Amino acid sequence: MILSIESSCDDSSIAVTEISTKKVLYHKKISQETEHACYGGVVPELASRLHAVALPNILQETKPWFDRLKAVAVTNQPGLGVTLLEGIAMAKTLATLLNIPLIPVHHLKGHIYSLFIAQETRLPLLVLLISGGHTMVLRVESFEKMEILATSMDDSVGESFDKTAKMMGLGYPGGPIIESLAEEGDENRFNLPVPLRNSKLIAFSLSGLKNAVRLEIEKLGGADAMSRQDKCDLAASFQKAVKLHLLQKSKKIFKTEPIKDFAIVGGASANRYIRNAYKILCKEFGKTLHVAPLQYCSDNAAMIGRYAIDAYEREQFIETAAIDIVSTKKQQAGTLL
Ligand code: ATP
Ligand code: FE
Repeated sequence: MILSIESSCDDSSIAVTEISTKKVLYHKKISQETEHACYGGVVPELASRLHAVALPNILQETKPWFDRLKAVAVTNQPGLGVTLLEGIAMAKTLATLLNIPLIPVHHLKGHIYSLFIAQETRLPLLVLLISGGHTMVLRVESFEKMEILATSMDDSVGESFDKTAKMMGLGYPGGPIIESLAEEGDENRFNLPVPLRNSKLIAFSLSGLKNAVRLEIEKLGGADAMSRQDKCDLAASFQKAVKLHLLQKSKKIFKTEPIKDFAIVGGASANRYIRNAYKILCKEFGKTLHVAPLQYCSDNAAMIGRYAIDAYEREQFIETAAIDIVSTKKQQAGTLL
């Protein structure tokens, strides 16, 4: 069995996964959303202190598996430096005490592997990763070969939902709040610009849309002056513009990529409105759509454990003294390293 730890942002999570069956035997996650909600986003120092309390509490529950653990896996990049270190410190200690190898896991590869927790999905695979810090399309050919085909020039999808919610005084995380308000809204009320609509660039950009949302809020006299219906309509109009942007750029990629399997991963892949739009697009292009179970869309240690099984089979271990964080938030085009 492999014990995996995730602490790259505001979720403390530990999982135990069986190597031979790839089954998740134990999984727990303690989210810090309530604690960060009043700040409208994650406060790194607070997040790290909350991990320091939550992770040992979860670890207690995994003790029955300790004598059967073959390795410890931990997210070491990308993420918030101070929170990654909480998980890494715990992983190093465990690996040393139990005398088992340590596996460093790239968080975004973990998101991709969330697809394989419930079922094996054949490769190659085209993947749209939409999370709190990233928007990218990747060609995943194998464990070793994951190439970034398109990436974000500024705000990520999750971030744009979070910032839109914050501007309307709606709390954090913004994704689920905006999605549910949008269900009651008129998506055609506000004529928001679809980013890079007239550009040939195959890239993502959402900061201009965010600015357009801000201007609409100002026109309405600020968040406090907005009625509930105003907020629902703006949420729906914003979500529609994000969807159209994602679809437009994905279409360009679909036209040149013959790969038949397409997946959406990351926290924002929980969005049903976006999922449904991709269902239609995939049908049009004869592609099969894959998504991870809802509980494994946002950060979790089960996806880290699932990736770690493949890494374990390849003996991708690291010396406990050598593991460090790589906290770069934005990933450039190229190979996902
Ligand atoms: P990264 O994985 O890029 O390092 P992260 O780990 O912080 O970033 P995730 O946990 O994958 O991000 O996803 C969290 C993000 O997903 C948040 O920005 C949140 O608002 C967004 N999100 C969650 N549910 C939804 C939803 N239903 N619609 C849109 N966005 C959503
Ligand atoms: Fe994530």
